[in-house]
Amino acid sequence: MDKIKMKTPLVEMDGDEMTRVLWKIIKDELLLPYIDLKTEYYDLGLPERDRTDDQITIDAAMATKKYGVAVKCATITPNKQRVEEYNLKEMWKSPNATIRAILDGTVFRAPIIVSNIKPVVANWKKPITIARHAFGDVYKASEIRAEEGGIAELVFTSASGKVTRMKVCELEGPGVLQAMFNKDRSIRSFAHSCFRYAISTKQDLWFGTKDTISKQYDQTFKLIFEDIYNTHYRAEFERLGIEYFYTLIDDAASRVIRSQGGFIWACKNYDGDVMSDLVSTAFGSLAMMTSILVSPDGCYEYEAAHGTITRHYYRYLQGETPTSNPMALIFAWCGALGKRGELDGINELTEFSKKLERACIETIEAGIMTKDLAALAEPGSKATVVNTLEFITEIKNKLDSEL
Ligand code: NAP
Ligand code: MG
Repeated sequence: MDKIKMKTPLVEMDGDEMTRVLWKIIKDELLLPYIDLKTEYYDLGLPERDRTDDQITIDAAMATKKYGVAVKCATITPNKQRVEEYNLKEMWKSPNATIRAILDGTVFRAPIIVSNIKPVVANWKKPITIARHAFGDVYKASEIRAEEGGIAELVFTSASGKVTRMKVCELEGPGVLQAMFNKDRSIRSFAHSCFRYAISTKQDLWFGTKDTISKQYDQTFKLIFEDIYNTHYRAEFERLGIEYFYTLIDDAASRVIRSQGGFIWACKNYDGDVMSDLVSTAFGSLAMMTSILVSPDGCYEYEAAHGTITRHYYRYLQGETPTSNPMALIFAWCGALGKRGELDGINELTEFSKKLERACIETIEAGIMTKDLAALAEPGSKATVVNTLEFITEIKNKLDSEL
């Protein structure tokens, strides 16, 4: 078989620790034998970020803007302990935060579903993808703890000098106060990313806020979404037969539980923080969860939702055979290659990524899995626990028989 040729390079961001080890195995075993892989490589491993004063992260984000599709390995976000461990010049910022800020993107988290690992919510048959607005609200709020009573006011001085003043409350004793904000610009970007991702994956989009109670704040979110939907996306949604559905956040929460899945749930920042943990836990495992950053102008960056699996890496350094689950990393590559194929009109590439995904799922459904999944598999279903390399070899055999 001839190797599949690519046109536009994929932006490849390498990472740290155990996932860096898995990254190389995945490329060597599952990609390079089949694809004339064309990537623009950025080493986001911590030593290289330190050496380049984190310029490499910025370059990688700019390359993603240029080419439109990236795949990223997990990376260490340094803390004090990492600064010592790697003898860093500085406590560099989280690469994901840097990339997200440059692309102005929204993160979509989606579970990988297999038939022998059942979600806690029995009626969920298809993935539920959570889109979390990652700017503002309570995460950028100002707070006051009042130790005695008093009057609280909200004051806004506009750029042109107009002052709006509003009494918030009169505290007769100690209490707490909070002021938060968001920007139309950020809400608009969030909305564009959500509608684009719904179109790109042909799924319904749900959005919920508390606009009945929050008649200015949440109402603004609702109106901006509605406006952007009507002006830019309604026709395409109708053509694809997908739906944009707005409801109150509490109604959304109860409908999600009763649903079969298969849609995107857009959430305000705090709702998304809480609901993404709830949904991902109910689906089973972080090792079976992918994460896709979508920018409002349609750039895509694919990665695993988990971190660098440090504990496994330290054991690997001591000579232990890797046992980590590579599913989310493989799916990140599949997502990116599939999107590249779609954008460049390379059908073989899109087909290859679908076949590789199917080979992964069939391997697990045949009962061959890493130990993290064996613990979650349906009672009574057979599970053969294998290490990472054995697991990848099984996937490769399945893939070969499909190609
Ligand atoms: P983690 O890497 O996600 O791992 C936490 C635990 O989850 C592991 O010890 C392991 O449990 C289990 N796990 C996660 N992924 C797994 C997989 N693929 N296969 C099997 N088990 C898996 O989180 P962390 O240990 O808190 O963070 C480690 C580093 O990752 C940190 O430096 C953090 O900054 C970074 N991080 C990066 C990203 C990113 O780049 N997107 C995201 C999160 C964290 P057991 O040990 O019980 O087997
Ligand atoms: Mg959280």
